[in-house]
Amino acid sequence: MASVPAPSSAPSSAASPAPSANVPTTMTFPVKAGRLLIGGRWVDALAGKTFADVNPATEEIVAQIAAGEAEDTDAAVAAARKAFEEKPWATMAAADRAKLLWKIGDLVMKHADELAYLETIDCGKPIAESRNIDIPMVAEIFYYYAGWATKISGDTIPVRGNFFAYTLREPVGVVAAITPWNFPLLLAAWKIAPALCAGNTVILKPSSNTPLTALRFGELVQEAGVPDGVFNVLTGSGRGCGMALVRHPGVDKIAFTGETSTGQMIMREAAGTVKKLSLELGGKSPNIILADADVDAAARGAVSGIFYNKGEVCAAGSRLFVAASVHDAVVEQVVARAKKMVPGDPLDPKTRMGPVAGKDQFEKVLGYCQAGKAEGAALKTGGERAVVGAGKGWFIHPTVFDGVKNDMKIAREEIFGPVLSVLTFTDEEEAVRQANDTCYGLAAAVWTKDVKKAHRVARRLKAGTVWVNTYNYYDPAMPFGGYKQSGFGRELGEHALDQYTQVKSVCVDLS
Ligand code: NAD
Repeated sequence: MASVPAPSSAPSSAASPAPSANVPTTMTFPVKAGRLLIGGRWVDALAGKTFADVNPATEEIVAQIAAGEAEDTDAAVAAARKAFEEKPWATMAAADRAKLLWKIGDLVMKHADELAYLETIDCGKPIAESRNIDIPMVAEIFYYYAGWATKISGDTIPVRGNFFAYTLREPVGVVAAITPWNFPLLLAAWKIAPALCAGNTVILKPSSNTPLTALRFGELVQEAGVPDGVFNVLTGSGRGCGMALVRHPGVDKIAFTGETSTGQMIMREAAGTVKKLSLELGGKSPNIILADADVDAAARGAVSGIFYNKGEVCAAGSRLFVAASVHDAVVEQVVARAKKMVPGDPLDPKTRMGPVAGKDQFEKVLGYCQAGKAEGAALKTGGERAVVGAGKGWFIHPTVFDGVKNDMKIAREEIFGPVLSVLTFTDEEEAVRQANDTCYGLAAAVWTKDVKKAHRVARRLKAGTVWVNTYNYYDPAMPFGGYKQSGFGRELGEHALDQYTQVKSVCVDLS
């Protein structure tokens, strides 16, 4: 049992609103930080190696994490395979799987304060977001898929001749969930809940930047009574155990969220074993404010669309297209709101802007700020490091560039940080054309008071999600995924179950 020291600035209570319990100033969690969860046992990595997990707000090491490699991957796959093929998982009634999923949701809520705390010290996410949004959403996902477990069914097929044909929907087998660092537990839940719901077994490979909640969650899954080997946690690097999972013949499906370039590598490597894949990749999402929009609401939406979770959101509205007639009013409000989002201690419930997730990310984001200036975009605010407290941590001021052209680097490449590019258009046609002029297609939004324009533009935008007069709204029942190089396959909702089941036709001769 490893303990995770709370920084001296830990708040005396978690973020409002309720439910919230006290967060003591010194916290000890039963996080098996240096271990892997394989086949129901917490074990050291076979080679005995570990790596440091760093708090991006303080630059302090919070834990040493087991560095799983190829031989640990073999052990995890063997455990997940055994659990998939054997009792009790293979024969468990769907109704009993539903109860287990519901119980996991309950345990997540029971331990929401500590999970939120772990998430915040691991990725710098403001505690108000991790406690009030991420962790409750994790529980909601499990409740939602608990409902689906008993509703996955096949069809009877009206075939020619004296035959009776029907389909079975069966689990795919061993699923490897490979997840990023921006919503560590939430994006894992998007994969784990539908996978378990459909009767698969799972190996979770969290990002090496943010493994803490995956490990604590592993303990909660055990506490819920999920049989050994059904859920495994393999920490380690992407090129180490991540790639070993992708190449492993014993893994039936990879559910991946991360960078487009990593997704491309995974597609190539998964070809060797013709694995099933779902890929949730990067984005450069357009947020379009038409001339007739409610300017106040749209400006608020533009700010939350880019600065929520420090801009480390795959669907972040990083390209803000504003109609020329409302440009000045929108930019004035957006800049004023950005200036008010002063970066601060992410454990303070009042903080809305934490540090970016790590040093590499910090340097990458500031590099894009330099590129924006060099290409002639007008820096309206931010663009530099923010000094918080004693000056430690990877904090960046919320940044707004105006006068951006769609062919500039800051408009084409995913920055994955708190940097907004404002572009201008004269008519709807030009807005749609520029919005779609990107290799990505994850999300988009349009702001207008005209219901016809709203639906018309929504249809024309090439993106997996289009929000109208809102941004960053998610629900467990609403499918999410990418067009173009933002990936394929849908997570959440009923559609996610297609990713974790396969269809078998059974044909009976009745003559
Ligand atoms: P990343 O691609 O670097 O890493 C994601 C995961 O893949 C990590 O667990 C990592 O260890 C693993 N990995 C890395 N290289 C690997 C390899 N060669 N083989 C197997 N696994 C490997 O992404 P990140 O930096 O952690 O996350 C940020 C990216 O994720 C951004 O591009 C963002 O847009 C994207 N993202 C997409 C969505 C979505 O739903 N589309 C959601 C969140 C984040």
